[in-house]
Amino acid sequence: MTEGDIFKDMGVIPVRRMNRSGRPSPHLSLSFDSHLFSIDTSRSPKGRRQPDAYLITHAHSDHYGKSAMLSADAIATMETARALRIRHERRYEGRTVSAGGSIQVDDLEVAAYSTGHTIGSVAFGWETDSGVRVLVTGDIKNYENLPRCDLLVTEANYGDPWDPACRFEDDIVGFGDAVESGATFGAYAFGKAQRAVSLIRALGCRETVGMDDKSLALTKELLPGYGPFTPMEENGSDLNVVSPWELSRVKSQRKYVLTGRSDLPFPQIRLSDHLDFKGLMRMVEKTSPDAALIYHPEGSRANMMAHHLRELGMASISVSEIKDFF
Ligand SMILES: [Zn+2]
Repeated sequence: MTEGDIFKDMGVIPVRRMNRSGRPSPHLSLSFDSHLFSIDTSRSPKGRRQPDAYLITHAHSDHYGKSAMLSADAIATMETARALRIRHERRYEGRTVSAGGSIQVDDLEVAAYSTGHTIGSVAFGWETDSGVRVLVTGDIKNYENLPRCDLLVTEANYGDPWDPACRFEDDIVGFGDAVESGATFGAYAFGKAQRAVSLIRALGCRETVGMDDKSLALTKELLPGYGPFTPMEENGSDLNVVSPWELSRVKSQRKYVLTGRSDLPFPQIRLSDHLDFKGLMRMVEKTSPDAALIYHPEGSRANMMAHHLRELGMASISVSEIKDFF
């Protein structure tokens, strides 16, 4: 049986929208029963086929909530809606669901499962009329809350089994040492900054954390009980979490960046928002699907992970291999 056949067999057809320049828009939609669900996509232009739901897994810009948030058919968690509102200074027009809860789309119940990638990030799961369990994960740090499924639609940020950069451990000890001696951490304002602040508090540090405006606004809103915080210019302590490009503005003896993909002239401490390759494989094992569709980020890592799963005997394609367009 080919990969295409198994999707047909399950009655869930992955489709993509072709944009005006003749290229596929990100990411994909799933057509099943009478439904069309769009996943981490921008909105369909007027006059084109409209989905019955835009599922927004989290508020990172490469998941296109900035556009989808303007649709009444958007579905995201309250935290994701809040983060989108602050980041893009627009109203969130969709509906919200809580992590661990569910929401109706017509006659269908769609459940949301926390993935620990950002505050408010979730996977979405539902069952089709013929009993096929679909799970769309978005980006994942923690797969413990994910249920078993038949069709897994998932990420491959670190999905290349042959790339050594896809295997890593978080350096919690290094981070703890730096927090103890007082340091300024460069972290993206949404996601990494809140991960850093939660860890600082989990390590038992109660000191005031200095932050730049955007990081401060997002962290105050998304982690209200995790203060004290203060604007970085007014911080009396040596502990700061700021956007990577603000690092040069902070007077501090010790500066670090908390990203694995930085070319900034500061030492790195590895604190990832993602599962590494081993973690992704454990997640696949736990969710135990019959077929997989690797959808983010489009490109070689998704292709390599789909290829690897095929070699293990699982029907699997990457988003680039989707043949149907609308
Ligand atoms: Zn993300």
